[in-house]
Amino acid sequence: MGLEEKLPNGVLLTTVEKLVNWTRKSSLWPATFGLACCAIEMMATGAGRYDLARFGMEVFRASPRQADLMIVAGRVSQKMAPVLRQIYDQMPEPRWVLAMGVCASSGGMFNNYAIVQGVDHIVPVDMYLPGCPPRPEMLTDAILKLHHKIMNEPLGPKRAKQLAEARAAGTAP
Ligand code: SF4
Repeated sequence: MGLEEKLPNGVLLTTVEKLVNWTRKSSLWPATFGLACCAIEMMATGAGRYDLARFGMEVFRASPRQADLMIVAGRVSQKMAPVLRQIYDQMPEPRWVLAMGVCASSGGMFNNYAIVQGVDHIVPVDMYLPGCPPRPEMLTDAILKLHHKIMNEPLGPKRAKQLAEARAAGTAP
């Protein structure tokens, strides 16, 4: 007889990894980090109409030390790049980055010397969201996809190994 059959109904079985990841994805704390026009849609997503609170994350933090999600909403100028990296470094681990819109993801139509051609040159990106600008529904969808990714992340040394491998492969700075 399997373990599930021996236990009474109503007992939940899970792993520590799944439980920790569930708590993490259910209470993301986004940093206030609007850079350009995409930020307007990000603000709309946080307001009552789209109600991000349904997913446990309506409060945007002004201090990176209180945030674990950086939504890069807009183009990143070369001048802003070191500031963005410093803010990322101030965020506690574990932390995640969502590149919102084509400008943050790849430089978009700003293919010139003044704009970083994708924020992944500065920080590791967990989720790319296309669009110019992406609508609030699209940002919500990207956040839910990030939740799915977080649920499947390894913990502790396994996560450190995964990051080291990503850096060696050049997919994370
Ligand atoms: Fe603005 Fe479009 Fe670039 Fe977003 S993707 S920052 S809306 S130009």
